[in-house]
Amino acid sequence: MSEHKVVIIGAGMGGLSSAITLAHQGVNVTVVESASAPGGKVHSREVAGVAIDSGPTVFTMRWVFDALLRSVGTSVEAEMRITPLQVLARHFWPDGSQLDLSANANESEAAIAAWSGGDEARRFRDFCKTTRQLYATLEGPMIRAQRPSMGGFMGDLGFKGLGVLAQLGPMRSLWDQLGQQFSDPRLRQLFARYATYCGSSPWQSPATLMLIAQVEMDGVWSVEGGMVAMAHALERVGSRRGAVFRYHSTCQRIEHRQGRVYGVHLQSGEFLPADRVIFNGDTGALRSGLLGEGVRRAVTSSAPPRSLSALTWSMYSPTQGVALDRHNVFFHSSYASEFEDIFERQRLPERPTVYVCAQDQPSAVMPGQAERIFCLVNAPACGDGDGITEEALEQCQNHTFQHLRQLGLNLEPTTANSIRTSPQDFHRRFPASGGALYGQATHGWTSIFSRPGSTTPLSGLYLAGGSVHPGPGVPMAALSGQRAAEAVMASLASTSTFPMGATFGGMSTP
Ligand SMILES: Cc1cc2nc3c(=O)[nH]c(=O)nc-3n(C[C@H](O)[C@H](O)[C@H](O)COP(=O)(O)OP(=O)(O)OC[C@H]3O[C@@H](n4cnc5c(N)ncnc54)[C@H](O)[C@@H]3O)c2cc1C
Repeated sequence: MSEHKVVIIGAGMGGLSSAITLAHQGVNVTVVESASAPGGKVHSREVAGVAIDSGPTVFTMRWVFDALLRSVGTSVEAEMRITPLQVLARHFWPDGSQLDLSANANESEAAIAAWSGGDEARRFRDFCKTTRQLYATLEGPMIRAQRPSMGGFMGDLGFKGLGVLAQLGPMRSLWDQLGQQFSDPRLRQLFARYATYCGSSPWQSPATLMLIAQVEMDGVWSVEGGMVAMAHALERVGSRRGAVFRYHSTCQRIEHRQGRVYGVHLQSGEFLPADRVIFNGDTGALRSGLLGEGVRRAVTSSAPPRSLSALTWSMYSPTQGVALDRHNVFFHSSYASEFEDIFERQRLPERPTVYVCAQDQPSAVMPGQAERIFCLVNAPACGDGDGITEEALEQCQNHTFQHLRQLGLNLEPTTANSIRTSPQDFHRRFPASGGALYGQATHGWTSIFSRPGSTTPLSGLYLAGGSVHPGPGVPMAALSGQRAAEAVMASLASTSTFPMGATFGGMSTP
């Protein structure tokens, strides 16, 4: 093991991925985490003695974890049990209509033809072609790359890539673009919702976010034991490679002198020396001085617009009325008002779209029997203010479950069968975020260039996580962790004391 010490602050997806990669290279890695378990936003809540997955539930871009685990000599199959879903999501509208989007595009096309007519099915086929091209164009220069500059990005796209973007109208919003792709307003709404996967409004997001549709069509998996099982699996791999995980350990200050990081102070008073530190929390915590005045300059001083927060219910309750699939979306007819409420009025939506995750196999649940349910509505990230009152939370809860009832699903949260989590709760758990769950909002076509990258102006301090390039979501945060590990390895390799055999990306010694 090298004498270089790396402290990683946070065991979220970014921090876990950095830890695995660095520990595998023989680096001395300690992960300090405030919470009692790995995962960060990937977490569960216990209701009536039953664990309900209460963070991310949609697992996509499996290739990220295939590559990560393969690079350290193991595999996704060896570390966790995952199952591909046939139905990506079941969608309900107030007019009583319902559509399953399938992992098989041909099946979706046939379903759309039966539901909305042959012309719309052809539009869907064209849409799939566009999103496929878009994803292929952007995966290298945007998703896999270290933070791109505008010039570098254009260069990497080349003539062909620029042509693909030009066809879309790069300045167009996702909502406007989808209006050109579809005639049926329900399909426009369905695909516009993908902007919320980045915590953003379809009205302000660039049309390029259409690529998220392709990410889903490439596959959605469920993880046995929930997404938390995945966080635990990654922690196990990191521990096997030598990383040390310390829970209930909050970093209070990142120490530096003469422009260089030299360690961290924990809330307990303990000092951990480190010549490299990776910060996996929200970058807003650095900006606001929570980790010390001197590290503020590691990120730009102007705060970017915050992404969405959420109001969620982790429930163990019977459901009744409609047959749920694993992922279910209950739309309102007026979609714009939800985002006006959240982003313009900074209040909980009066007419929220409701996401319902039914976490048990339907065959395993007898009628009338309680099942594991997670409900989520989008919310403004103002959990650090006093704008969201208890009364507003109650009102939003009433609107949410009334909406579900109107669309046929009978489900009622009580203190015995559910735990509610508000933007304030998320803010407390993820300091300086206001409850924003996806870093900064992806608003405007230049927003991809404004996220920080893995390196900072403070020597020895690196960043990983959803508020860092390439952005939010479980796989993207994991990619950012790998980018941070690469940057650390590159800097260690440039010092004479690091064993040169340990080049980044080498194969494993399980
Ligand atoms: C309700 C919800 C639903 C979501 N749905 C999806 C989905 O379906 N699919 C998807 O891909 N993504 C989804 N996301 C987003 C996804 O979970 C996140 O983008 C991703 O997990 C963030 O990972 P991260 O690396 O940024 O770390 P985080 O999860 O933000 O974890 C950071 C960790 O750092 C710790 N930390 C911070 N400061 C300190 C400190 N000073 N000292 C010690 N520890 C500290 C925190 O305690 C935390 O554990 C969802 C998120 C939520 C909350």
